[in-house]
Amino acid sequence: MSVIDEVKHGTDIVAVIAQYTTLSKAGRTLRALCPFHSEKHPSFFVYPEQQSWHCFGACSTGGDVFSFLMKKENIDFGEALRLLAQRAGVTIPSKLGNGHEKGKRERLYQVNEAATQYFHSQLLSSPLAEKARQYLTNRAVMDKAVTDFQLGFSPNSWETLKRHLSKMGYTNDELLDAALITVSADGKAHDRFRGRLMFPIRDDRGHTTGFGTRVLDDSSPKYINSPQTSIFDKSASLYGINLAASAIRQLNQAVIVEGYFDVIIAHQYGFVNVVASMGTAITEKQVNILKRLTGNLVLALDADSAGEEAMLRCVNYENTLDSELKVILLPEGKDPDDVIKENTSAWQELAGKATPVIDYTFDINAAKLDLTTASDKSLAARRLLPIIAEIKDMVRQSHYLQKLASLINVSGRNLEAELRKINAAQGKRLSKREILTPRPISKSLLSNPLEEYCLTLLLRCPELKEQSESLLPEYFGNSENREIFLAWQQVNPDISQLRDKLDDSIREHFEAIANKDIPVGQIEQKYIDCILNLRKRFLQNLEIKRAEVLLSERELGGTAAELAKQEEQGIEVKTRLLEIFTQKTNKG
Ligand code: ZN
Repeated sequence: MSVIDEVKHGTDIVAVIAQYTTLSKAGRTLRALCPFHSEKHPSFFVYPEQQSWHCFGACSTGGDVFSFLMKKENIDFGEALRLLAQRAGVTIPSKLGNGHEKGKRERLYQVNEAATQYFHSQLLSSPLAEKARQYLTNRAVMDKAVTDFQLGFSPNSWETLKRHLSKMGYTNDELLDAALITVSADGKAHDRFRGRLMFPIRDDRGHTTGFGTRVLDDSSPKYINSPQTSIFDKSASLYGINLAASAIRQLNQAVIVEGYFDVIIAHQYGFVNVVASMGTAITEKQVNILKRLTGNLVLALDADSAGEEAMLRCVNYENTLDSELKVILLPEGKDPDDVIKENTSAWQELAGKATPVIDYTFDINAAKLDLTTASDKSLAARRLLPIIAEIKDMVRQSHYLQKLASLINVSGRNLEAELRKINAAQGKRLSKREILTPRPISKSLLSNPLEEYCLTLLLRCPELKEQSESLLPEYFGNSENREIFLAWQQVNPDISQLRDKLDDSIREHFEAIANKDIPVGQIEQKYIDCILNLRKRFLQNLEIKRAEVLLSERELGGTAAELAKQEEQGIEVKTRLLEIFTQKTNKG
């Protein structure tokens, strides 16, 4: 079995996708809000039996576990394979290109480290950095913190960093890949960050993956980060994690703040288990990083940063963490760094009084509503019940149901009935066990003779390129076959050139296909038939998937409009299928 097959065997698409969106059972399929586009009614479906997914909403596309990860994480096939291999415990032989990608990443870490050192030394000694030093003094940042966090200053010029790093042997491409330089409209490359205070952002292993920056005047935006690169993803970064990890583990608690200075000042005063969520609400990826260190997360929120949607997400995080998320309520208009600087024991007291996130949600709703009126009581129930419905721990769920009942002075039994309605509408939640049990994968997912036959013809007969307009990437259900087809589309079918386009992990599969015997005679006709068959199979598959959706909509009592929409799509597919049959009959 090839490495790719081994990875497929050891991977369950349900478990992978469940890390990104909440799946609910819907007949033989699973449904969710699409993780790729924003929607209110779930139109994203996962098919465990076929190990595939499809979005019937705005995306109108689908694929297998590889294409899901590639799209979601914005990575190529090789990276997706390595991620899944790691998950499945499959070792990828080092000759399969791991070295190349790893070397490239290593180089980006190195260039970022070199930039970190450069910015840091500028801050410490350049006369041009006086304003930056003054700013840090004003914010009461001490020398030790400047060193610990390797704070820096980017000179206000177009090329100093670029020249410095070029002298060290880094290429323009590497500087671009690390997003340290940027290309302006006239095609000239220049330093991206100029005249700014620099905060190197490190991962838990201490690699600098990107930078946070702040202006030193009144211009806006005040803060900008590095854009997404192959090693920097803002939503998966936690500022300070490299310095905080061991304290988080030791204290068995992580405190999450929003800003760079909140972390720096907290650490300076000895609160070392503090990290920042990079200025946004905490994300699932960040929770997953922290989960490896502790189950106890405390969010320091300013009064208005927690909407209902954010709280709903938090309850989902609690389910992942299998423990309670807590909230520190900051005094009006103050950041953690203000509170700590003013009075460290006040901060300690706040942290000690951290409120469970759901109680906090109750409090803000109670504060905003007039719970003596019928309309506000009903509003409170509508806001809080969906949050309570998300809680997996039954004891906690019933605790909060009782709390809501007494808050709005309504009988618990009535609320329970409402809760059951919500649960029914959301579909039966999957238990963790259901998600984690790998399913046997049918042989047909591993090899696909029709697709491979089509590719062999294409690779062996360059003249067929002319006939290939109606052949689409989505006709290839196997990711590695689709990768080969996409690479073929990019190059003139010169096999040697094509080989270089492919990820190393696909080479073996590629060679097998390229070296298969091909039939003699009527190649063109055979090829056209092959495309028609692929197309037919693709549409039939879509039809089956759509039918399952329709079935689950009916079971769950979907609205007439949704049913009608699905029916309509079905008619479209059937029309296209009919076209294929007619084409075939005409040829025959
Ligand atoms: Zn979608």
